[in-house]
Amino acid sequence: MAFTKSEAGQKVVRKAVRQDTKEQLERMKSRSQWLTEAQRAFNAWIRWRDRKDACISCGEKPSERVGGAFDAGHYIDVGDAGRGSYRRFDTNNVHAQCKKCNRFSNSGVKDVYRKQLIAKIGLEKVEALESVREQKRFNVEKLKRIKAVFQKRLRINKKFVDK
Ligand SMILES: [Zn+2]
Repeated sequence: MAFTKSEAGQKVVRKAVRQDTKEQLERMKSRSQWLTEAQRAFNAWIRWRDRKDACISCGEKPSERVGGAFDAGHYIDVGDAGRGSYRRFDTNNVHAQCKKCNRFSNSGVKDVYRKQLIAKIGLEKVEALESVREQKRFNVEKLKRIKAVFQKRLRINKKFVDK
């Protein structure tokens, strides 16, 4: 095989090698790595979607934020032993929340979250979130798809929607 030395040819070879390496690396990733990446992509979308919203629990405005961006705070917590995983990637279940409310969440914070959530998405959807009584296991294929979907949604929205 005549190995091309042209600039363009080398570029093609380098790209093919990169692609190969990328695919090898992706194959080596564990399910938990995919879960982390899918969650990161999903959370990035939520933070962008809610970029102008106040904290759903305490009402702190984006302009009053201390210490950077809001968290993407789950209403039904991921750690909820009975059903947490089921709504992990449900956009109705996750909203901008200040770090204080998200990380030191107590029942009082949850009560206000519920009230605000009803105002935002309606009682019917909140009750639908609450009605789940099972866990869900996302396999690698599903996690890859979730990551890709939310990355794409964020990219397109950032491009075409007013900041
Ligand atoms: Zn808050």
